[in-house]
Amino acid sequence: MIQRPPAEPGMAEDEIDTPALVLDLDAFEANLATMAEATKAAGVRLRPHAKTHKSPVIARLQGRAGAVGQCVQKVAEAEILAWGGIEDILVSNEVVSPRKLARLAALARFCKIGVCADSAAGIAAIEAAAAAADVSIEVLVEIEIGAGRCGTSPGAEAVALARRVADSRHLTFGGLQAYHGKAQHLRTPEERRAAIASASALTAETVEALRQAGLACRTVGGAGTGTFALEAKSGVYNELQAGSYIFMDADYGRNQPAPPFRHSLFVLASVMSVTRDGMAVVDAGHKAVAVDSGPPAVWGHDDVRYAGPSDEHGQLFWESGDRRFSLDQRVRLVPGHCDPTVDRYDWYVGVRRGRVECLWPVAARGAMA
Ligand code: PLP
Ligand code: MN
Repeated sequence: MIQRPPAEPGMAEDEIDTPALVLDLDAFEANLATMAEATKAAGVRLRPHAKTHKSPVIARLQGRAGAVGQCVQKVAEAEILAWGGIEDILVSNEVVSPRKLARLAALARFCKIGVCADSAAGIAAIEAAAAAADVSIEVLVEIEIGAGRCGTSPGAEAVALARRVADSRHLTFGGLQAYHGKAQHLRTPEERRAAIASASALTAETVEALRQAGLACRTVGGAGTGTFALEAKSGVYNELQAGSYIFMDADYGRNQPAPPFRHSLFVLASVMSVTRDGMAVVDAGHKAVAVDSGPPAVWGHDDVRYAGPSDEHGQLFWESGDRRFSLDQRVRLVPGHCDPTVDRYDWYVGVRRGRVECLWPVAARGAMA
């Protein structure tokens, strides 16, 4: 069941029902502009990842800021974006089930659909679905360049798969998917630089091998919020897939230096108990904020630590021992990890300078299939 919105436009932030997912619109818009300038200056395209926001509204705003389309991870996310009017969608992931591929092919009747493959059997399954629906689907061959997840080996194996795609009647070979997930949260710039230098070299070799085989890459895609500047100037990648940049989470804040974005996404919590000095309890626990990448930061209270979450409670601790918070006081938490936190909410509450401005549905919430 979709929950009722926790606020209405015009309300003060302190009146929002909690826990709520609050988007600081000034910071969010600044992040859109920062990424638009960075990609424009580097001469690369931006295809942001919608697994972060799960929202056709945010996808449209990214499009207005110059994005060429969207990435998704799941067919169900592709459906929500396509039904919401987004016209160019890449599933930056392998889809191999015939049922899922039939759903994807149905979308290709009214928008541009791309998908990744790392096996001959996967390519055959995509071709079968596209043929049955009489549509054309673009396929990127995914190569394994350090993340140790999906992807065929760079070089000859990738060329053989690309040839299969090009020889399939209903498929077009779009290029390479070369995302290095593990590099995103390497903490030092030296580690990130080394990882992306190696990824870029393997990708460049594969692009060249494809060229020699007469297969041109329209797209060489990858990159996330932690490394996008490196892929942007690699001379190899031409399409960036960063997602978290629009929100910035506390975990990305721990990269050295942190990516050049502002924290725009918060879980708004309320203080529900203040029985002891140096401690308060808020109404946001595991069910309100993801802690897989560490606890949330407490906005505006650098010396306050969020710890010991249970399902519906979070505890705040501070050393000075005073009674800092009052009952029902609102506290902004900066999520440790933005993507799974967003997936816990039905609504973004857009706030500007302390007032609610808009409510946007997290339309693809729970889209896992
Ligand atoms: N591209 C792919 C294929 C991903 O899996 C991800 C995230 O895991 C991203 C891009 C975006 O990464 P981020 O949200 O860290 O910017
Ligand atoms: Mn993430």
